[in-house]
Amino acid sequence: MTTAVDPVGRLPEEWREAMQALGEKPFRAEQVFRWIHERGVLDPEQMSDLSKPLREKLKESGFAPPARVAEKHAAADGTRKLVLELHSGARVECVIIPMTDLNDADASAAPEDDDEDRDGSAPGKTRITLCVSTQYGCAMGCVFCASGQAGLQRGLTASEIVAQVLISKQHLEPHEELKNLVFMGMGEPLHHYEETARAIRLLTHPTARGMSPRRITVSTVGLVPGIARLGADFGGKVGLAVSLHAPNDDVRDRIMPMNRKYPIVELMRALREYPLPMRRRITIEYTLMNEVNDEVSHARELVQLLRGLRVKVNLIPMNPISASELKAPSGARVAAFQRVLSENGVSCFVRTRRGDEVSAACGQLAIADDLVRKKRERDAQREANKS
Ligand code: SF4
Repeated sequence: MTTAVDPVGRLPEEWREAMQALGEKPFRAEQVFRWIHERGVLDPEQMSDLSKPLREKLKESGFAPPARVAEKHAAADGTRKLVLELHSGARVECVIIPMTDLNDADASAAPEDDDEDRDGSAPGKTRITLCVSTQYGCAMGCVFCASGQAGLQRGLTASEIVAQVLISKQHLEPHEELKNLVFMGMGEPLHHYEETARAIRLLTHPTARGMSPRRITVSTVGLVPGIARLGADFGGKVGLAVSLHAPNDDVRDRIMPMNRKYPIVELMRALREYPLPMRRRITIEYTLMNEVNDEVSHARELVQLLRGLRVKVNLIPMNPISASELKAPSGARVAAFQRVLSENGVSCFVRTRRGDEVSAACGQLAIADDLVRKKRERDAQREANKS
């Protein structure tokens, strides 16, 4: 079992097996696990309290950093994007988003602070929300999303997911503190459940003083079995964000193909059954697309649909992507939509656009745009070969 899991993706018990196989004492397992997940060291050569022969054995057994930083971009609003290159040549983006009073509330579905969380915050620190990817491309095909138009290339391993967090932490400024983690980059985390769940276990593991699962939010298109599994495996502690984007099946079927498999009624049932702790809410993501899902009548339907659920709604004026002609509504239409929700007691925020200059805003990850371009070139080539 152990050798099948990449070293960075191993849990402590798997490291114990690995150490046994290398003829080492079991306590080395915890030591190496902490080097990786507490100190963020991904190269055995830098694990200074291990003997040289053990470091050599680790390298020979295939322990190497799962990713390296290929590019770094910064936007004027403080958002930074790291482009990481994985061993296979795949590239993924992680987005570092500083939280301000203005964006705290909407904050890419970051959980609201409660007393317990405030106690854990270091004074004077800028809190960071980090957005990571779980797949290279995406199989869900949402029409407004560049990743969906690119199609799925492959799922990331847990070690590749965790490496995004560990490497991003090394790029924080001294006054910054990673506070929230959102699985909202490229890919559908629950379509890739095993690796997503393993990554959460690694990131929250007490041996390495990991994050609280309450600071992690998984965003899903609405894969009903995956929502149930996540709730059961983590007792509802992991935050849930749902990309709803439509108030009825008619609209949702057109923009999100997965809705035909898991229609809204089933999705709403799964949300009602999610074991949400007291004082927590599910985030409903609603991308507003001009004259598609942004009518006042849609807002009224949404109010009815969400009645009785503990939710907050993030309204996201659509970010332009090259793969789609859909566009954002005018400010007046956004305001009218929001007013209906607010007047009916639905907590909602319009998400501020963060990181536009570095193509880091939701749904427009530049790598996905690049994948779409390559897919078009392949399709065109196929057509040309036929004729
Ligand atoms: S919105 Fe999310 S689930 Fe839909 S295609 Fe894009 S990455 Fe995939």
